[in-house]
Amino acid sequence: MRAIAMESPKMTTEHPRIKREKKTIEAMVHIYCNNHHESQGELCQECNELLEYAKMRLDKCPFQEKKTTCGKCLVHCYQPQMREKVKGVMRYSGPRMLLHHPVLAMHHAVDGFKKPKKISKKKD
Ligand SMILES: [Zn+2]
Repeated sequence: MRAIAMESPKMTTEHPRIKREKKTIEAMVHIYCNNHHESQGELCQECNELLEYAKMRLDKCPFQEKKTTCGKCLVHCYQPQMREKVKGVMRYSGPRMLLHHPVLAMHHAVDGFKKPKKISKKKD
């Protein structure tokens, strides 16, 4: 009998903080896509690309587990175009996270209190 290993070939040691951040952005993109692009369960291509991009940025985030939430980060690592998209997603899904994913939303709020550094208070 041969045991079949189910883990992916590339075993990355991902910090729980980054994992959670990915789950949060994933949930946010899903809420946004479901309500804007009438996708059911599956993300549309555009949102899928955005999510992949966001995850890739998290992998490359220089702060890793010490990072604050991306919205408060001083290093603007997103391309301007992706940044605009993700801002729209967060603005829409942020408040809705409390309803759909209260635990994730709470963690995200707590993470946001870490190292607020400098926040430009600009509301549109
Ligand atoms: Zn979409």
